Amino acid sequence: MKIAGVQRTSLIDYPEHIATIVFTQGCNYRCPYCHNSSLIPCSKENKNFIPLEEFWSFIDSRKNLIDGVSITGGEPTLQADLINFIKEVKAKGLKVKLDTNGSNPSILKRLIKENLIDYIAMDIKSSLDNYSEITGDCDIGKIKESINLIKNSAIDYEFRTTVVPTLHTEKDFESIGKVITGAKQYYIQNFRPVNTLDQEFLEIKGFPDTKLEEFRNIIMKYVKEVFIRN
Ligand code: SF4
Repeated sequence: MKIAGVQRTSLIDYPEHIATIVFTQGCNYRCPYCHNSSLIPCSKENKNFIPLEEFWSFIDSRKNLIDGVSITGGEPTLQADLINFIKEVKAKGLKVKLDTNGSNPSILKRLIKENLIDYIAMDIKSSLDNYSEITGDCDIGKIKESINLIKNSAIDYEFRTTVVPTLHTEKDFESIGKVITGAKQYYIQNFRPVNTLDQEFLEIKGFPDTKLEEFRNIIMKYVKEVFIRN
């Protein structure tokens, strides 16, 4: 595991749980608004990753203070030893939340089948037609496969979209709604111009509340619980 950083405690990342967040290095997408752009390169010269022994002794010292570990990135499913890492977290009696861009359904399938995760948060970057405009090179078939796997699983999950004025319109939300019809929960996350991969996005302001509500109303035709994270 290339662990680039750890946030000791979060009360908000894993809904209704206290979690330690693990940031993994490497992502296969290139979203221009990405806030974690330093985590995108899969290998980074001169970067010191946190050694696993150090991480486990940290977790052992805190496991009575947290409910679980939230694994984010980058894209965690790119980590070759993710499954063993998660097994170790579970063996310590902790829950696991996984953030993913949905590009690796085979890993998700195994994690779900082997009962290794407790919560998945999957990004839905846009309508399927406009997906690669945001992510760069992208296999839409795998995105659809991940959505269906998650929707048909028994575990807790959320789908979520970071919404950006230059990238998303009402039309995208009609399309997203159709793709995730019947999902348990969907979150609309407003874009913030902070530390973006593409510097030009620093000049863009997030959507006004009224527009976020419009998007919410569109998705509510397809999903029961739709929330706005502003
Ligand atoms: S926003 Fe997520 S999926 Fe997109 S480049 Fe950043 S880490 Fe990767």
